[in-house]
Formats: sequence, C-alpha cells, structure tokens
Amino acid sequence: MKVRIYGGIREIGGNKILVSSSSRRAIILDFGKSFSREEAFFQYPFMPPSFPDDYFKVGLLPPARGSSWRVEGYDALGLLISHAHLDHWGYLRMLNSEIEVFLGKAARRIIETYRMTRRDLSGLDRLKMNCFQTGDILNLGEFSIMPIHVDHSIPGAYGFIVECCGRKLAYTGDLRMHGPKANMTRDFIDAAASEGINLLIMEATKVAPENDPESSLVKVLENRIWYRWRRSPPKRVNFEASTEEEVKEKMVELLERSNSLTLIEVAPTDVDRMRTVYEVTKKLGRKLVMDERTAFMIDRLGGLSISGLPLLGDYAVWKRRKRGRDGREIKFSSKEPKTFREFLKKIEDKRGEDFVIWGEERAKLFKDANSYVIITNNATRFLYEIPLGIKPNMDFVMSRSEPFSEESALSLDRLMNWLILYNVKRYYRIHVSGHLSPYQIKDVLDAINPSKVVPVHTEHRDLFDIFVPRRMISSILLPEVGEPLEV
Ligand SMILES: [Zn+2]
Repeated sequence: MKVRIYGGIREIGGNKILVSSSSRRAIILDFGKSFSREEAFFQYPFMPPSFPDDYFKVGLLPPARGSSWRVEGYDALGLLISHAHLDHWGYLRMLNSEIEVFLGKAARRIIETYRMTRRDLSGLDRLKMNCFQTGDILNLGEFSIMPIHVDHSIPGAYGFIVECCGRKLAYTGDLRMHGPKANMTRDFIDAAASEGINLLIMEATKVAPENDPESSLVKVLENRIWYRWRRSPPKRVNFEASTEEEVKEKMVELLERSNSLTLIEVAPTDVDRMRTVYEVTKKLGRKLVMDERTAFMIDRLGGLSISGLPLLGDYAVWKRRKRGRDGREIKFSSKEPKTFREFLKKIEDKRGEDFVIWGEERAKLFKDANSYVIITNNATRFLYEIPLGIKPNMDFVMSRSEPFSEESALSLDRLMNWLILYNVKRYYRIHVSGHLSPYQIKDVLDAINPSKVVPVHTEHRDLFDIFVPRRMISSILLPEVGEPLEV
C-alpha cells in the first residue's frame, strides 16, 4: 500500500490523501479545499479558480486530463469524506462522477444543505453519495475500510482505518478529546490501538508556536485602524474555555451583566455551540434570532436526532436583504430555492409573520435590545444589514471554534470597521477548539502506538516532535506534497 498526500501539508485543511495498491487501484481520503493556497493565487468573486486547469497549475489538485478530476494512472474505487468542513470536502464539485463518494449521514445532510443555497456547488448533483456509519466495513477492491465516529466541532465526523494487503493505515480526520462526545474519539483510538497500525496520518492543527494566532492578527489590525482612522478598535477579550460547559458559563456571565443586544458569530454546523447558545438564551429569558442560513442549516440537521437544538418556532429569522427592481427591499427574490422559502413559510405559519424579520421590522430588535440574542454565521453581514439611522447598543461575541477557516473566510478587518462604525467597544472571544490540544497528541500516540506517523492539517509540522512520546520521534515522517510513502 502506498500513500501520497496532496493537501494538508504545511497548511490547516485542504486534506487530500491518495491510497494505492500494487495493482494500481486507489481510494481517496478527503478532498478538501485549500483556503490559504487558493487565497494566494485567486480572489473571489472576480478571479476565482474556474477551469480545472486553474486548480492544477497552482497545485490545488494533482493534474488530471479532462474537465473533471480523476486519479491519473489508477483505477479509483471511491472517495471517503471524514466530515463536512469545507477544508475536507470543498473540491468535490471537481470530482469525476465515475468516482463514488462515501460519507456519514450528517455530513451528507450538511453538504446537501450548502448545495441548496449556493449555486457554485451545482457540480455536486452529478455525484453518487453513499452513507456509512460506525460498525460498517466498506470493501472497495482490495481495500477494507472501517469508518469510526470521532468528536469534532461538527456532527458526523469520522476517522478511518484502512487495510490493504495485510498493512494498516489509520487517518484521524479532525478530532478532539475535550468535547461533549469525547467517548466517540475514544472509540476510534481504541479500535486503532487494537488493530496495530503501520502508518497513522494525524491531524495536528494546534501544533503552533503560539496558542492564539488570532491575537497577533488583531494587534496588527488595531495598529492599522488607529493610524488610518484614529479610532480605537474594540478591545479583544479572550476567554479560551477548555470544555463546552465552560463556554456556556462564560456566556451566561457575560449576558447577565449586559444591557445590550448580543450578537454572536457561530459556525452553523457547530451544533454543540448552537445548543450552548440556545440554552443560554433560555436560562436568561432572551429571545433567539438566527440569520436565515444558520436557521435553515439547524432546521435541516434537526431531522438527524441531534438533541437540544432549537426547533422550528423557537427562534425568529433575520432575513438576508434582497433588493427589488424598484430599489426597495423585497421579502423574497425569485432566485431563492423553493425549499428555503417553504422553510420560512413554515415558521410564519407557526408563529406569525413577525418571526421572519425583514424591511422595517428590522428596527424593532434595536428598540428592546437586551431581550434578544442574535446568532449569525457572518457577523459582518449582519452589521451591514442594520438599517440606516439605528444606533445599536450591542455586544459582540466571536464564538466559532476556529477563528479563520471554514465557510466564512472571515475578513477580520472589515468586521472591525463595522464594529467601530457602530461604536462596539468590546470584541469577546469565547470558544473551545474543535481540535486535539497539542498535549493530547502524546496520549493519542501512546495509545495507538503506530510504527510511523505523519502530521497533517498544521502549518507547523516542524514542531510536531515536541508533542510526541520520545520513543516515537524517529517515527515521524514529513513527506512533501505527492511524495509516495510505502506503508
Ligand atoms: Zn474540521
């Protein structure tokens, strides 16, 4: 068995791992978007990568012939997605439809939901997506693959154990030990430990020279804003929690003291955080408002028996602004998908029209400010949609588990400028990471005890050795992009 890694080397995300056998058959583990490498060469919306060649020439994907991507020189038997963060599946739309996709049920639901609201993902319709769950064994040619659930900041996350020709490979995907479902990660580790793993491909997101990369970026921005505008940006107050329960405590503490509208940015697929914020609003008797995309995602995930999420009618929806032909705001545009309009209609039928907030209704949130909590997946967009003439009295909390990744492609300086415009004095950061803390890397390696280990999904793999058990330092492999590793 041979492994080649085409993304996730010296970068967080973009994972793409090709596993091949001596009979030239192959499977692929993850097919992630490389945020940093894309950003280095392209720009949305004016100069995005649009032809397959664009991906090949800058190394976002290994070159292939034709208008979609296939594995050159190999018979590809399937592509397995570990979880539904874009940096693990974002290039699926480039995939040749002859290659079948395998993923967890929640991951499929999340990807389908994105597909409904984003036209750039229409290429996904061609693909065959098969679901697996823990306990399944997928037999693709000579490969036998065991998906095992792990805990991460998104539901439906898996690690894989791959066996081929008597050799065994384990791939962690993204995982953590301190989350509400740590026992799932434990299941993966136990299974890998009992298998005897020859090569472990392990996420090492949090291996970095400092623990809070956001803080240095904020410092740079603060200086820039001061020189440019002579305005003080909001002061960043960081509460790094070690468990989701602690996130809740911090939020309760903050909101209890606050007399303002609270705006919280959360990734819509982070159901643990969503549950936490919902519990906080209930405890403090605040009303919950969600931006339309977040609400739609939560509603679609509701069918997957994920407990504790707000149900239809438990929240009002902040409708995204749409401009009509006469220049005035309209409630719906004809471009919005039917399922999405039906979802909003269901809310109105249940709770009344004022539960879908748009047009002049927007102002009401700011009159009775301290009775609301707003959850958004894009705070900058929310701030931009505040009507003219409103002086909001507002607290802002950034509560994504990871600051600069995934669907927001967060533009921090723009967010800062809007916060300054609205005179928001504090930028609270309350979060707990979705990833293994560097100190847990040693525990995981001690338990699995692989013959060789490759760190991926980190910008600082040269620091990985600090966190591994001493006896394993010589087992670390640091391959270059596409370099074959014999398992
Ligand atoms: Zn992830």
